[in-house]
Amino acid sequence: AWPTDRKPPWLRAKIPSGSRYDAVRRLVADNRLHTVCESAHCPNLGECWSKGTATLMILGDICTRSCRFCAVHTGRPGEVDWDEPRRAAEAVAAMGLRHAVLTSVARDELPDGGAAVWAATIRAVRERNPDTRIEILIPDFRGKTDDLRIVLAAEPDIVNHNVETVPRLQRLVRPQARYERSLGVLRAAKREGFPTKTGLMLGIGEREEEIASTLREIAEIGVDILTLGQYLRPSMNHLPIDRWVTPEEFASWKELALRLGFRYVESGPLVRSSYHAEEQVI
Ligand code: SF4
Ligand code: SF4
Repeated sequence: AWPTDRKPPWLRAKIPSGSRYDAVRRLVADNRLHTVCESAHCPNLGECWSKGTATLMILGDICTRSCRFCAVHTGRPGEVDWDEPRRAAEAVAAMGLRHAVLTSVARDELPDGGAAVWAATIRAVRERNPDTRIEILIPDFRGKTDDLRIVLAAEPDIVNHNVETVPRLQRLVRPQARYERSLGVLRAAKREGFPTKTGLMLGIGEREEEIASTLREIAEIGVDILTLGQYLRPSMNHLPIDRWVTPEEFASWKELALRLGFRYVESGPLVRSSYHAEEQVI
């Protein structure tokens, strides 16, 4: 196996460049928006931004949670910015996105977990960009179904919520989340008739049989789209990498997932929730 302190060759990402990259960077800065591409140190930033695509992260860039894999800053977020939905809608228009992925930090300190801002953002993006497909990558709203309902009432096109890892590692990897609660979000979205999507990081300590049983369990809920990618350690304060998962192993997980009934599977070392999202037409 490749040593965990050295990146294997299949993880080398593209260097950002070009006029579209600069345009995205300016757009995000000028609109005082945040992207998960930057906040999560996504390795695909060069590729995606050079193609003119970014994933906006709403509700600010400070998260109330402290998942041990995530580079987003933890702390006390500021006031809710009610103009953010409008600026997000403008940014989606300026990028000319046919498929927009929106995500957010967790805002557990707000009574509604940020659900009203989420709904306002979906509606603003829709109004300004009527032909754009809207995929939302949402937090679990602490399992509060009323908050989730507020978001779903804004009628996104795809509802994405990541389980991130296998059940045994949940407490270690995302201490403020619960595996069952995340399954509950997916079940609720499915029940309301939304196309659903979830994802896991591999290489954070899970065993192969745990991956298989988790995929089986998620498939039983009827989740439509799955993303599997390599965990990358954002800093020495985050969980260490347990192993590098080879491109071949990712391909075999994709095969299994398709057999289990997922309709679209994106599986590879550099795959992230929003990677190639525009191609996942179901
Ligand atoms: Fe941003 Fe997603 Fe692309 Fe990463 S994969 S750079 S998060 S759009
Ligand atoms: Fe990161 Fe966890 Fe906050 Fe999401 S909830 S932004 S994964 S720390």
